[in-house]
This record gives sequence, C-alpha cells and structure tokens, in this order.
Amino acid sequence: MPYRLLLVEDEPGLLLTLSDRLAAEGYMVETASDGQTAIDRGSGEPFDIIVLDVMLPGKDGFEVARVLRQQGVATPILMLTARTQVVDRVVGLKLGADDYLTKPFDTMELLARLEALLRRAPAASGVSLERYQFGDVQVDVRRAEVHKDGTALELSAKEFQLLRYFIEHRGTTLSREQLLQDVWGYTAMPSTRTVDVHVAWLRQKLEPNPRVPQFILTVHGMGYKFAG
Ligand code: CA
Repeated sequence: MPYRLLLVEDEPGLLLTLSDRLAAEGYMVETASDGQTAIDRGSGEPFDIIVLDVMLPGKDGFEVARVLRQQGVATPILMLTARTQVVDRVVGLKLGADDYLTKPFDTMELLARLEALLRRAPAASGVSLERYQFGDVQVDVRRAEVHKDGTALELSAKEFQLLRYFIEHRGTTLSREQLLQDVWGYTAMPSTRTVDVHVAWLRQKLEPNPRVPQFILTVHGMGYKFAG
C-alpha cells in the first residue's frame, strides 16, 4: 500500500517539483498551500506522513503542527525551514514536529528522512483519527457517530469499536483471534463466530452491496482486512 503524504508548501514551483518527485518515489501525494487547509486535511484525512513548510500564508507551520497535535493527530511531521530560521528547529520539535530539514535541501536527503520517519512510526501509521471517510460513509471518531450518504446510522458500541479498529488498522489482515482480543478484550477464546456476526452486521450497515463487500474484506483462511 503506498504511503499517503500531505505536502504543505506555498511556493507553487517547489510544490510542483516536490509532488512530482515524491509521486515518482511511490508516495500518494496530496497538497495544501496554506495553514488552514493543512489543518483541515491533516486532521480530517488519514495520512502516513506530513511534510510541512514553516513559512505559510495565514497560519504558519508551527501553528499547524501545534493544532494537529492538539487534535490528537499523531502523523509524523517533517518540517521545512529556511536557513535563516536558526531557532526553528527547537521550536518546531517542541510544537510536535518529528524532524526538520533546512531549505534548500537535496531531494535525496528529504527521501531518506521520510523513510526514517515512516520506519519509526507506529504500525498502520498509528493515526489518531478525528474523522474518517470511505465510500459515502463518514465516521466521527470522537463523537462515535457514523453517517452514510448523509444519514445517521445506528451502530452498537461494539460495532463502532470494531469499525474503529478496522480503520486504525486499515490495509492490515486481522485474524479473528486478534479482533476478539483487541476489540472484545477476550484472552480466553470464546467462539470466533462472534467476530463474523459483528462483521456481517457492519457490512449490512456500511457496504453498498453487503454480499460483495468492498470495504470489510474476507481474507480466506486468515481473517478480515479493512480496505476503506
Ligand atoms: Ca513557504
């Protein structure tokens, strides 16, 4: 699965050059060119890593990092600072950046730093999500609310916990035993049928066609995988 990268930079030339280069390296690159957009996208969508310029119109990179961390977004942040901003490193790291790079930089250096940060990041990007969207389903994690096509859905507490766990581990194959242990908290194993039943209910509520799931997939002989 390619890493989703949010690139925040207001210089159009640099934004274009970097986007092309990162895309060529296999990243799924999304962009923002001002601080507020960076906050909206960074907190509303799942990213594996954020490259954040400090000098931005409106809210600067420090403010963006601070707000994202305040909102519980744990995505690794690599800050880009200008050579003259000597104090930036310390300030940036204090405000929640994970690493910094001084402009102008060599692209190879940037790629190496990104790889190092991604290696350090918790499994499945460890994103602490506020909101998540897949298909026409919107999930508000904090409020435990789910909407489909604008209509509120009734999910039981366990269904919601299971959905949240799937989202947090998207792209990973999860065994029924692991789901029972992590979502239900069982250490002695009751029937794994419990998991199948809840998955079926979730599919009924969330999938466009529950008979042919496109989000909560069965991995035969292994378990389930969320592909939203
Ligand atoms: Ca800038």
